[in-house]
Amino acid sequence: MSNLHGTDKIIRRKFYINGIVQGVGFRPFIYRIANENKLAGFVNNDSQGVIIEIEGLSDNIENFENLLESDLPTLAKIDFINIEDIKIKNDKNFIIKTSQADKTANTLISPDIATCDKCLKELFNPDDRRYQYPFINCTNCGPRYTIIDSIPYDRPFTSMKIFPMCETCSKEYNDPADRRFHAQPNACHDCGPKIYLHDGNSYTNSKNPIGDAIKKLKEG
Ligand SMILES: [Zn+2]
Ligand SMILES: [Zn+2]
Repeated sequence: MSNLHGTDKIIRRKFYINGIVQGVGFRPFIYRIANENKLAGFVNNDSQGVIIEIEGLSDNIENFENLLESDLPTLAKIDFINIEDIKIKNDKNFIIKTSQADKTANTLISPDIATCDKCLKELFNPDDRRYQYPFINCTNCGPRYTIIDSIPYDRPFTSMKIFPMCETCSKEYNDPADRRFHAQPNACHDCGPKIYLHDGNSYTNSKNPIGDAIKKLKEG
């Protein structure tokens, strides 16, 4: 990273953040504002919260800190933040690290969040690949608490671990510009959980399980 201003020097700063910071689009948000400010380093969930290390021009780090306050994702909430300057490591880019499991889990978990407006639009759009997919979700909505087996909140620690994402879902999950970037419950008709109608003895091959269930209930 080149030093653009003579007075501006490269520093590295470590943030330790606790609060509602897992499962609410916090890491994708950090990834975005780090890249916007040309900062290298990483963000990582741990069982206590989130750890961020950023390295770059001190002006850019200041910008990052301002955005961290002003642009926080709607569902995120910072209860505690500890900041310290550490030795520079000459990282070349900014990455989201994969979480490490830890037995001393002590972080706040977001509740499940009702389907957001964008997902609702897709849900009722016949041209959308998730048309009428009952488990539609994104970085800003969907199940959280009910699917978490253990923290840190990452797909391998959720009940979604038995549903490997299809290629299209994986692309969304790995694309920082996508609104499903790192959405742990990301799924679709092809790869996610499905709904079946069970008649008490066995599964039926109903094409419209919810509609048929309603009909059967009405019939008594
Ligand atoms: Zn959504
Ligand atoms: Zn899929």
